[in-house]
Amino acid sequence: MSVTVAKTAGFCNGVNRAVSIVQKEINEGKKVATIGHIIHNPQVVKEFERKGVIVVDDVSQIPDGYTAVIRAHGVPQSVYSELEMRHIPYMDATCSAVAKTHRIISKASMEKKTILYAGDKNHPETIGAIGHGNMSKVNVFADVQELTQLITQTDISNDKDFILLAQTTFNPNEWNRCLQIIDKYLPDTEIINTICYATSERQKEAAYLAVNSGCMVIIGGKHSSNTAELAETCNKYCRTILVEKPSELHMYQFKKNEKISITAGASTPLTIVEEAEAILNKALQAIKEDPIKSISKEDYNNNVPYIDSKDIQDDSNGAIQRNNSLNHETIGTYKPFTGGINIAVGKIIVNVDEASEIGLLEKVLKVLVKVA
Ligand code: SF4
Repeated sequence: MSVTVAKTAGFCNGVNRAVSIVQKEINEGKKVATIGHIIHNPQVVKEFERKGVIVVDDVSQIPDGYTAVIRAHGVPQSVYSELEMRHIPYMDATCSAVAKTHRIISKASMEKKTILYAGDKNHPETIGAIGHGNMSKVNVFADVQELTQLITQTDISNDKDFILLAQTTFNPNEWNRCLQIIDKYLPDTEIINTICYATSERQKEAAYLAVNSGCMVIIGGKHSSNTAELAETCNKYCRTILVEKPSELHMYQFKKNEKISITAGASTPLTIVEEAEAILNKALQAIKEDPIKSISKEDYNNNVPYIDSKDIQDDSNGAIQRNNSLNHETIGTYKPFTGGINIAVGKIIVNVDEASEIGLLEKVLKVLVKVA
């Protein structure tokens, strides 16, 4: 039973730079407005807001006297033009890896090439990047299926010069699958891999840890695409828990003698990762010492004790039966709730979605009955 923290967890260079730029402006006594969230981490954004930073959706919302900071994910060319037109001072925190895609798209558009961009069309980075090109020549696709459809079911293949690039956080495996399609249908395409090195290293390490762990904990903002990619990758190999902050982690989610690994999105500060590590170590120690005593009142009130769903079975009467000693009387009836299995003990509905030891299940149910 141990907790391993990924070596690649913590801010990447681009995020670090963006956060430092905002902090420097604050330290210099400037009033700061970020265009969009400076990074995809709510705690960091909140902390800056506490220091007086405002977040605006567009340039028209920036009050007089403020310095604008352009987020790490970048913005379309039109935003730069507007800032300059309104004479608003600004700092550009666009990550250099993102800025590179802007230059490629801008140049390709001038050369009248057709751009194939692998990414999420609703993500701010994609919106920013394609806003540096001729929109009628930029084609965004999310995965290999969409790319195939784009090539085979539209008239795009009548175009001549193609260039392929990707959102910096695009999944490297999906990218490789896309390359096979390009090779098949548009072999003369110029291919530029713009996936961020920091992202692919993080992905690789996460996959390695997931293969060698019983449970992966991923920490990152709900809107962070690289965090979502990490969770998706890890989920293929082991049980994966995605949280935005360490306080969302609860003891009942973990098993005795389980190897747990933690990684985090590029916008998650190392301090938050360390906080999660401390919580997990404490929880695992508590489970080891005494699984029942370690269910705190807070955990009980807020959460579901840890129960093995595979040891609980629905019978045709809508009641719960367990393989051995638990019976209807002990466990009560249940009704469908949001996912997992729900059991009622007294007046309490318990949602169960993780596996545990049957001995613990029995003890937990006794505790529940007592509390109820
Ligand atoms: S993940 Fe990569 S592209 Fe994104 S901010 Fe960090 S270094 Fe830049």
